[in-house]
Amino acid sequence: MLRFALLASGSNGNATLISDGTTHILQDAGISRKQLLERIRSLNLCPADLTAVLITHEHTDHIKGLKFARSYGIPVYATPKTAEEIRLKQKDDDFPLFTFEAGDALTFNTITVQSYSVSHDAADPVNFTYTTATGAKLGFATDLGHPCKLTMARLAGSHAVIVESNYCPDMLRVGPYPPFLQQRIRGKQGHLSNEDAQSLLETLRHDRLRLVVMVHLSEKNNCPDLVREKITRIFAGSPVRVVVAPRDGLPEWFEVIP
Ligand SMILES: [Zn+2]
Ligand SMILES: [Zn+2]
Repeated sequence: MLRFALLASGSNGNATLISDGTTHILQDAGISRKQLLERIRSLNLCPADLTAVLITHEHTDHIKGLKFARSYGIPVYATPKTAEEIRLKQKDDDFPLFTFEAGDALTFNTITVQSYSVSHDAADPVNFTYTTATGAKLGFATDLGHPCKLTMARLAGSHAVIVESNYCPDMLRVGPYPPFLQQRIRGKQGHLSNEDAQSLLETLRHDRLRLVVMVHLSEKNNCPDLVREKITRIFAGSPVRVVVAPRDGLPEWFEVIP
């Protein structure tokens, strides 16, 4: 049974746990070590139970608590350029990391992880999909400026998708962010707007899609109710469940049903 739990979501920190019951993978570690350990334990797991930590990119909201992995001896995986940036940011030349190339597939017992490149202003950003032998597929599309053909191809056939809905363009325009930052967020290497997320999901809907989780909402430039309303409308009358992730995460398991 493939399942996942959102430990944190948003520009203050991102971390998701993906598990089949025996293999437990943490994708990103962007909250403090203390918060990470608390939230892992709240799911009745010990930090030492983790099989691996996978990092999408080196932005602080994805690696803030990463040092915990070293103390528990959990292998951390990143692309070579991301690994280099992580070591620079941690000021630790010896920080142990395993590397893979963007586009590689990694296998952790019964879970196969497929990496794919995304357009984002980091050294070598990737996203992942997770599949099990039973055919369950979970796909991520977060921290990307725009979805390209590769994004659609990698996410096709997912039974559950976790998609970024970072900002409402109107709120961003009149909000507190300075013009350069607004430009960065709106740019091709920034983040997905609510409208971008909507059109991505329209292309991803299929008969076996059951769960859509909206993540990485901006605190200042978005509103959870607005996202919920827009996305729920797309799937009205279908069996798809729509969840909008709170910033502090949700201490519960979501099942990916093939
Ligand atoms: Zn980022
Ligand atoms: Zn981020």
